[in-house]
Amino acid sequence: MTSSEYGPSDHGAQAEPGAYREPEIEGQSSAGPEGAGVSPMNTLEQVAQLVRTCTDCPLGRGRTNAVPGEGNPQAEVMFIGEGPGYQEDRQGRPFVGPAGKLLEGLLASIGSHRDDVFIANMVKCRPPGNRDPSPAEMTACTKYLDRQIELVNPKLIVTLGRFAFGRYFPGEGITKARGKLREKDGRKIFPVLHPAAVLRREELRPTMIEDFKAISEILESGMEATGMEPGVTAPEAPQPAQLSFVNAPGQAAVPAAQAETSAVNVEEAPRPEQLTLF
Ligand code: SF4
Ligand code: URA
Repeated sequence: MTSSEYGPSDHGAQAEPGAYREPEIEGQSSAGPEGAGVSPMNTLEQVAQLVRTCTDCPLGRGRTNAVPGEGNPQAEVMFIGEGPGYQEDRQGRPFVGPAGKLLEGLLASIGSHRDDVFIANMVKCRPPGNRDPSPAEMTACTKYLDRQIELVNPKLIVTLGRFAFGRYFPGEGITKARGKLREKDGRKIFPVLHPAAVLRREELRPTMIEDFKAISEILESGMEATGMEPGVTAPEAPQPAQLSFVNAPGQAAVPAAQAETSAVNVEEAPRPEQLTLF
């Protein structure tokens, strides 16, 4: 199969970033001034509706539910994962399986919550058997993620794992790149490991906890003000007391043996004032 077979459909793929129009009245045909058959992606809900009926790549045939993504439409932070797994495909929601539980715990560890952020994926339909999404599938699907990023316009994009990282820095290794704030096309990108990788390899958990702490520090420091260079590790910000139980340098690490998600404990994590950061 060639990638041209999954080329952009007319689903608003040519949407001009500046061409905002008022959302259309629900149920009204999208065939409007810009031409018949072109569906607009002026709102996150319009993007989601197109995703739910999309057949632009073979993944559309195997899905139970498409998983458009969800969260705060004005989120300061957007997380980009790889693609839906079994639970996500069943529920039509991102990160609701084991990797999602870990992600929620990590968010709680920095005083945040999934409703505060926006969570999306590289591909919106589950690859069969959780195989890797193909380059052609990611290319076919990118129009939706592109538009979600434009609409949410987050201050920081956190890529989860190598595929989302590869969207911005193809050919680089995630192991080396993780935990360092980067910039690409005017967007701040902070690569971290994929939560599923951390579930497979418990020894990675302290690194992941550290990287999430860095996310809150990046936001707290007000990125513009730091003059942070691309590729520079997040600065050490003053340690808010509420965050001190996460694994910080000089502190006892959260033992990797605490294999449960409770290593970053959802229940015990306070929802501190820093919530406004997200
Ligand atoms: Fe469409 Fe993306 Fe699903 Fe492929 S993965 S069918 S491009 S929504
Ligand atoms: N893994 C992902 O990359 N995305 C999800 O939505 C769930 C698991």
